[in-house]
Amino acid sequence: MKSAPSSVLENQHPELVDSFETFIQRELVPLASELPENGDLPPFDLRAYVRRRSAALGFYAGDHPVELGGSGMPFTAVVELHHAAGRSGCALAPYALAGSDGPSPLLRHGTPEQIERYLMPLIKGEATRCLALTEPQAGSDAFRLSSVAKRDSDGWVINGRKTFVSNAGHADMALLVTATDPGDGSETGPTAFVVAMDHPGLRIGQRYEGMSGEAMFEILLEQVRVGPEAVIGGEAGVGAAMAMAMDSLSRGRLHVAAQCNGIAEHALRLGVEYARERRAFGERISSYQHVQEHLVSSRAEVECSKLLTLACARLLDEGIDAPDNAALAKLTASETATRVVDRSLQVHGATGWTRGHPLEFLYRYIRMMTIVEGTSEVQKVIVAQAMGL
Ligand SMILES: Cc1cc2nc3c(=O)[nH]c(=O)nc-3n(C[C@H](O)[C@H](O)[C@H](O)COP(=O)(O)OP(=O)(O)OC[C@H]3O[C@@H](n4cnc5c(N)ncnc54)[C@H](O)[C@@H]3O)c2cc1C
Repeated sequence: MKSAPSSVLENQHPELVDSFETFIQRELVPLASELPENGDLPPFDLRAYVRRRSAALGFYAGDHPVELGGSGMPFTAVVELHHAAGRSGCALAPYALAGSDGPSPLLRHGTPEQIERYLMPLIKGEATRCLALTEPQAGSDAFRLSSVAKRDSDGWVINGRKTFVSNAGHADMALLVTATDPGDGSETGPTAFVVAMDHPGLRIGQRYEGMSGEAMFEILLEQVRVGPEAVIGGEAGVGAAMAMAMDSLSRGRLHVAAQCNGIAEHALRLGVEYARERRAFGERISSYQHVQEHLVSSRAEVECSKLLTLACARLLDEGIDAPDNAALAKLTASETATRVVDRSLQVHGATGWTRGHPLEFLYRYIRMMTIVEGTSEVQKVIVAQAMGL
């Protein structure tokens, strides 16, 4: 909507967003219409096709430098694309943009060899990866790690167990974050490794079925022997995983925020359209103030959330990366989208609750957004610390 307050910050890259939306409508919507209506996520081979096609068109991982295979877009453009993917309502659109299975900012800290061997194929959509950070006793408290890499002659031996790892079943490589035992008794922080999924000693254990059809996996690490070239960043990367991760948190959180805002906008549109058509007690339900309350409150919250996300993205492009900004945006967008989807489903009554209805799927899909990339409570902890509380 051109008169919406968020339009002041939105539409900074109109041609790019237009061509992305055309790609979704012309190529992805027809493919998505052939998916089974069981409400689950699309099969992996189709997602891989979408990823590669989008990379060939220059959308996937667009903010990476051209010399590495990206398109050199500003971050505000990437945020607008994530928003457009969510807003499209197309089940395949999110896979057209790099997410937690795509090029990881951790690898930007890699050695030139690691960048060429691992990061560039990820940027081009030719490879996919997973991040194995969470452990049974280390979720929000992510760096209290029990998995450990012990220095052994010139390499490392890794042992431990990781849980809730997305995409592990299809990934080409894992980014593993473990505690570090340098072997000389000194204390040091965690270290990040890049390891092929078929590396001896690394194997997938339990499979956890998620609410929206997405599986997560346990990864078991038993005497995984790697050379020094597996440490992200080389020798300088030993003990440096936390600093490397901090450097990349804002962008990941703003991707999630933008997608949530787009989904919220889509859900709100479905709610408004249905309310205008559906009749009860002889009137259109849109004339009832209780129904209006659901939709007007949603509109107010979506506008606020969009403005916050877009403003944070613009600050990042201006070189200002305040982690509490991204935490505020991710907290607001994920909580808003969860409420908006819930309200729009309520406006649809039983129709919205039935399998195959877009709101029934979104209701299950959106629920992860207040947990991934740091829970809502963890975002509040970050903001509280920034406020000196
Ligand atoms: C869909 C999905 C995909 C995921 N993908 C991956 C992946 O690819 N790789 C990976 O490594 N992990 C992944 N995870 C795991 C995810 O990172 C963790 O679930 C998340 O960090 C929270 O950890 P936890 O589940 O152990 O909850 P806990 O940390 O045990 O938290 C439980 C509750 O306590 C609250 N809490 C904890 N600490 C505090 C505090 N200090 N103050 C206030 N409240 C607090 C939390 O907010 C939460 O409500 C994924 C999770 C989901 C749901």
